[in-house]
Amino acid sequence: MSKRDHKYLVIPGPVEVRKEILEAQTQWMIGHRSTAFADLFARLQDKLKRVFLTQNRVFVHGSSGTGLWEGASRNCVRDGKKILHLVGGAFSERWAAISRDNGKDTDVIEVPWGQAHTPEMVAEALSKQSYDAVAVVHNETSTGVTNPIQAIGEVVARYPGTLYLVDSVSGFLGTELRTDDWKIDLVLTSSQKAFALPPGMALAAISDAVLERAKEVKNRGYYFDFIEIEASLKKNNTPSTPPISLMFAAEAQLDAILAEGLESRWARHAAMRATTSDWAISRGFGLFAQEGYRSNTVTTIDNRTKNIDVDAMAKFMSGIGFSMDKGYGQIKGKTFRIAHMGDMQPDVLQEVLDGLDEFLASTQ
Ligand SMILES: *Cc1c(COP(=O)(O)O)cnc(C)c1O
Repeated sequence: MSKRDHKYLVIPGPVEVRKEILEAQTQWMIGHRSTAFADLFARLQDKLKRVFLTQNRVFVHGSSGTGLWEGASRNCVRDGKKILHLVGGAFSERWAAISRDNGKDTDVIEVPWGQAHTPEMVAEALSKQSYDAVAVVHNETSTGVTNPIQAIGEVVARYPGTLYLVDSVSGFLGTELRTDDWKIDLVLTSSQKAFALPPGMALAAISDAVLERAKEVKNRGYYFDFIEIEASLKKNNTPSTPPISLMFAAEAQLDAILAEGLESRWARHAAMRATTSDWAISRGFGLFAQEGYRSNTVTTIDNRTKNIDVDAMAKFMSGIGFSMDKGYGQIKGKTFRIAHMGDMQPDVLQEVLDGLDEFLASTQ
């Protein structure tokens, strides 16, 4: 039986949250128009800039990441202009759908699931057509692919009118991401993935160019109007009531992350990727993501050769205290994913892999 008092989440979001971070949420509530809140907000800005590696402001919003997807699509693309989405998995597909649903003229560069996008593909598209924005998912959580964000950023930067928008929901704080060095205008994330906080808070580093663009966009909507969010941010505040408890937790988590060091944190996840891929290969599984682009925070295991019963696997693992993923979208069952993001440590990953070995032995 499990030595834990709860099920440890090995799913790629929400992920396991450490007890002291959960407890940081139980501080007494403060009013969001109080000085105490403005102080908290200012401290968070400082710490967030240090982990986003940016001089830009960081929006902190009460919504899941999906909200800021919508905000990015709405605020960054003018009427009569286009947005280019790089699509290669369930999440990149959904962001493109959100742009379309918000009435934006949307083109896509589609690659087969499991493949990465290349800078050459983007260079070709930008040479043929002008775009207000290029939108890409850093770490495609469904397929376990990490896109070459830096190299694509070099291409987009050749077109000064084109904003570079990056979803790093499951990459941020788990794998290398350098907002300013990589010339990213907007990078958005959610609290419940590699940040290892409870769900409910979205964040985005926003460049001046994004705000300049937003001013030229009609119908930015209300809840995700970047101009309004910026006006409040300048006063260390938010337009509507923010997720204050999550912000308490975020401060505690950022302190821990800064103490661990960003590069050590990235290295811990890279090491867990290596352990997980070695395990999968040596047990006769494949890896779904293209070699060279495999995610440091989630491994999508290709189950098509071995074809294990993923429901039985998840049931067995649940019995020993682990909540497992069974694959996502069109590759459910053909794949399953092991998330090694957030605050997971290598010894816990080893327990997960040992558990999977026990399951495999029980099916022999
Ligand atoms: C989970 C996820 C999202 C959606 O984020 P929510 O916070 O659930 O709205 C977007 N993009 C990626 C890459 C994700 O993994």
